[in-house]
Amino acid sequence: MTSATAQGKINLYFQVGPRLENGYHEVLSLYQAVALTETVTVTPSSSWSVNTTSDLLDTSGAPTDQSNLVVRAALALAQQAGIKNPQPMHFEVEKQIPVAGGMAGGSADAAASLVAINEAWCLGTDFPQLMAVAASLGADVPFALMGGTAIGTGTGVKLSKQPDLDPLHLVLLLNPKPLSTAAVFERFDALGLGEKINEDLSLAELVSQLGHNSLSPAAFSLMPELKELAEKDFGFGKAWLSGSGPTLWYRCETQSDAEKAADELRALGHSAISTSTSNMGSRLV
Ligand code: ATP
Repeated sequence: MTSATAQGKINLYFQVGPRLENGYHEVLSLYQAVALTETVTVTPSSSWSVNTTSDLLDTSGAPTDQSNLVVRAALALAQQAGIKNPQPMHFEVEKQIPVAGGMAGGSADAAASLVAINEAWCLGTDFPQLMAVAASLGADVPFALMGGTAIGTGTGVKLSKQPDLDPLHLVLLLNPKPLSTAAVFERFDALGLGEKINEDLSLAELVSQLGHNSLSPAAFSLMPELKELAEKDFGFGKAWLSGSGPTLWYRCETQSDAEKAADELRALGHSAISTSTSNMGSRLV
């Protein structure tokens, strides 16, 4: 039995360019890990299987078959290592990151799976090679492996590690309705929202525009009730969209302010979590 963890993320700044001919979008992303942790435990088994649990969340949207990113990550690592008939594994996934919330929960699971499988199969795949496999799995997987704070360019997989920022205290307002990342990008293209990417922006300049997210108008257009919610004044500052949504985040002064804000939102019937930023990346536990 081998376990590894990875953190969820928010984009503190997220600029998205117009759709390229290959269907991808260039981005400029200030990725920040948060203290919500996914734990993936792998055990050799007679067939590939996944079980997802959570103390906090509804995880029914997470696939139980081989389309789950934990299995896809293991198979991609096997291929990279030249293993033709990999040992089937059972995956226990313990989730703290909302499913389809724009916080890269599936990507964190994939990153933790890579680290756990690398150890369980004694592959000795080094970090740069793991990063290459991660990039083949999805735009947010390399960051989930790296963690901390990083600037992502290209499609988001070209990462430049940044010094740790001062801790931020956050409250996350979850939405019971999922929002498909693909649908948000489609609406983004239809509305012609692509921005000119300015890769020269420094960390300080990105931090000074904390919360900017090119995808917000597209997510709000697809889900008008999310726009209404984001515009509601709960008394703790502006709401920002996390990734492609529908999770909203607010910045609070202190951890206790964030906890109080989450309590207030829950008292109003919303689903909310308080958390802080994290300097951690994916690792064995
Ligand atoms: P991102 O921001 O990276 O686009 P997200 O955080 O909005 O993604 P995820 O929780 O990663 O959303 O899930 C997106 C979709 O991926 C889910 O609807 C589900 O069908 C699929 N998926 C595959 N593997 C997983 C996993 N381990 N956990 C959750 N979803 C998964």
